[in-house]
Amino acid sequence: MFTFVSLKLPLMNYELLFEQYKESQLKGRYVRLENIVPVLERYKEKNRIEVIGQSVLGQPIYKYAFGNGSLKILMWSQMHGNESTTTKALFDLFRFLDSEDPEVELWRNKFTFYIIPILNPDGAQLYTRENANKIDLNRDFVNLSQPESRLLLEVFHSFKPDFCYNMHDQRTIFAAGKTTNPATVSFLAPSFDESRAVNDVRLQAMKLIVAMNSELQKHIPGQVGRFDDGFNRNCVGDTFQQLGVSTVLFEAGHFKNDYLREETRKYIFISLLSGLSALYENDIVDNNIEDYLNIPQNNICFYDIVYRNVRINYDNSDLITNFASQFREELIEGQLVFNAYISSIGDLEGYFGHVEYDAKGALYQDEMGSLPKIDEKANFTLGKSIKFVNGLLKN
Ligand SMILES: [Zn+2]
Repeated sequence: MFTFVSLKLPLMNYELLFEQYKESQLKGRYVRLENIVPVLERYKEKNRIEVIGQSVLGQPIYKYAFGNGSLKILMWSQMHGNESTTTKALFDLFRFLDSEDPEVELWRNKFTFYIIPILNPDGAQLYTRENANKIDLNRDFVNLSQPESRLLLEVFHSFKPDFCYNMHDQRTIFAAGKTTNPATVSFLAPSFDESRAVNDVRLQAMKLIVAMNSELQKHIPGQVGRFDDGFNRNCVGDTFQQLGVSTVLFEAGHFKNDYLREETRKYIFISLLSGLSALYENDIVDNNIEDYLNIPQNNICFYDIVYRNVRINYDNSDLITNFASQFREELIEGQLVFNAYISSIGDLEGYFGHVEYDAKGALYQDEMGSLPKIDEKANFTLGKSIKFVNGLLKN
């Protein structure tokens, strides 16, 4: 399928490289075409940039190309419009690939990259998972009803990649296994059939994940998860794996207090560089399936904020309970805001908050009374004077 030359390079200092090559023009969660186009202009003169198609609303879809080597990798981000962390990391990679770093020259002759940084520009603009027709593009690979999904499949067939990187964000609800470590990065080598069998195509994806995970463990020990591998033919990763191309799902997740995902962005960048470096040096051949299966599975156990031992008034009697709030990302007058809503009430056994408060029996009160309600905004007091605004303690 592909051949490797073995030319060992000095170990890369990934944290340093990130500081050096981070694309400072892009930040935060609301990343859309108007943010990336001025940055793409910079690469136009090097003939790296091409418009390859249009979204439902006629917005351009761009492709970035690098290298003339035989090992071909197709990457795309933001097929879910509101999942921008990997787009930021891809632009950090572009800056690295534009540098004089010794790796870059070698990579140029080894790899060819086709990278689509925002596959769903309408969803990016609207800050929605779906495209402008309200279709989830990652469930559209049987129907192929949307121009964005058809475009990706066309690029796939014409480019004939050896690897695909399917790049996403995941919610804050996941831990890496049965732990209280957030799944800051999760991976999956998708299944190609119902039985979740492993063939050489899927095995290559697993081995690549093992390489990235072993680097990530040095930076975020215990914070890497493995996504559920139930087969779904509607999903792009499962489809491409079935078509015989090793495909890796990337999920950028939560890092403590990093709701803008500027920290997680770094770990995606490190995943990209360490994975490519391992492919370059053919370091993945000895990786084995057990090391992949030993990556703990994503486990849903987090709320953004949990309040414990809260006194509430229910049916005219006082009782002690726990409740939780979750941030929703809401686009209000063009600004993305994180609004906390009450999302669960009960013993919450087995659940944790990224932030936790112990009310020690203090009475819950809001404008309506002393009973928290699901989907209400999390503005309330505990006891006489402890005030919470947007879910958090107001000092
Ligand atoms: Zn996604």
